[in-house]
Amino acid sequence: MTAIEKLKLIKSRKLSAKQNIKSFLDKIKSKNGKINAILQINKDALLQAKEVDSKLKRGKAGRLAGLAIAVKSNINVKGLNASCASKTLADYKSPYNATVIEKIRAEDGIIIGMANMDEFAAGSSGESSAFGPTKNPKALDRIPGGSSSGSAASVAAEFCDLALGSDTGGSIRNPASHCGVIGFKPSYGAVSRYGLIDLTMSLDQIGPLANNVADVELLFNVISAKDQRDSTSRVLKTSGKIGKIKIGIPKVSADKEILKLIDSKVKKVCKKKGWKTENININHIDLGIQTYYPINYVEFASATRKFDGRRYGAKIEDVCGEEVLRRILGGQMISQEEFAGRYYKKALDAKQVIASEFANAFKKVDCIIMPVVPKLPHKLGKRLSVEDNYAYDVLSVLANLAEVPAISVPAGEISDIPVGLQIICALGDDKKMLAIAKEFE
Ligand code: GLN
Repeated sequence: MTAIEKLKLIKSRKLSAKQNIKSFLDKIKSKNGKINAILQINKDALLQAKEVDSKLKRGKAGRLAGLAIAVKSNINVKGLNASCASKTLADYKSPYNATVIEKIRAEDGIIIGMANMDEFAAGSSGESSAFGPTKNPKALDRIPGGSSSGSAASVAAEFCDLALGSDTGGSIRNPASHCGVIGFKPSYGAVSRYGLIDLTMSLDQIGPLANNVADVELLFNVISAKDQRDSTSRVLKTSGKIGKIKIGIPKVSADKEILKLIDSKVKKVCKKKGWKTENININHIDLGIQTYYPINYVEFASATRKFDGRRYGAKIEDVCGEEVLRRILGGQMISQEEFAGRYYKKALDAKQVIASEFANAFKKVDCIIMPVVPKLPHKLGKRLSVEDNYAYDVLSVLANLAEVPAISVPAGEISDIPVGLQIICALGDDKKMLAIAKEFE
């Protein structure tokens, strides 16, 4: 059953919010030990569900009445532990709600718990959590992807109706692709980042995950808005109406099987809808990783200076994992060398080039389709080089650099492992992209 169908049952009072929440809590209690998707359960969830039920009785409940939402552990939910899956913030209890959480609560959605993730969202496997890796519910011996590993796994394992993740260079779409669910990174600024603990604030974006596109859209409609508390948030209005569209296919390198699967899915949908494809050329598509990581390192290193052991918990360098330390030290090194504008500034210039190449492409085509991830997820526990780990992101960082909306929709499976297809649209065309995505699920 989709979340929207369930909402109808709840609103017509055939199912109570309390029953819905209770069934998820039971499932988490019995199955989370194996998956490790949820780090903390919201102890007030049942009480909040009861309140929603009494609102329902009075005919006053909101657009998410009684639905269960899992939240990535880098988003502040008052009273819960926004640990960022790090020992640094292991005891940090959020004193306030992020804007997205306020909006969800105002529409009577219920936060079921805090989801596991790569430490500080720096990763794409879900293995760097200080509280143990998450397993992929659809392929148990494989990584679920990351960094929103717990959010995607919670949706795939049916621990919640909907989930929130954050995406800096692919962290919503990558685990959605590996876990066979939908993951949507909105246009930069479409959703307020107030209350999100930064990885790279010029690239970070909060977004929804769910089992189908309409459910993702339901949550997006609730959380997207301009917010006074986030000066980079903005109103992006486009229509969700699409006619006959043209899909741009750029040349990218990825596993042959993955490219073949995506190609056949695109052909099938185009045949059914009478849509056309066009091969397009994006010159600097291969520069994504080299552009993304210097920006990521520098902004992350700067954002972590507040975790100095005085206010929030242990000093970050004393307790963090290897990837987080690499980025802090690397970011500081780049900053020191930066007097000549050699690295960070250059990366920002390259970001601009990539963004304008995408903007030009969208003058000719309605959307661009490519894989989310160029390879299949590795076996849990297998050790990869830093370069191989970063190589997971080559195709997902592009949308963040170009600030445009992108979504992962399941394309099929290869050796029983889910594979996602990525649809990218122009800045602000989030609704149009969702409409296109519906034809692909
Ligand atoms: N995997 C990328 C990184 O390690 C993306 C992370 C993200 O989107 N939060 O930075």
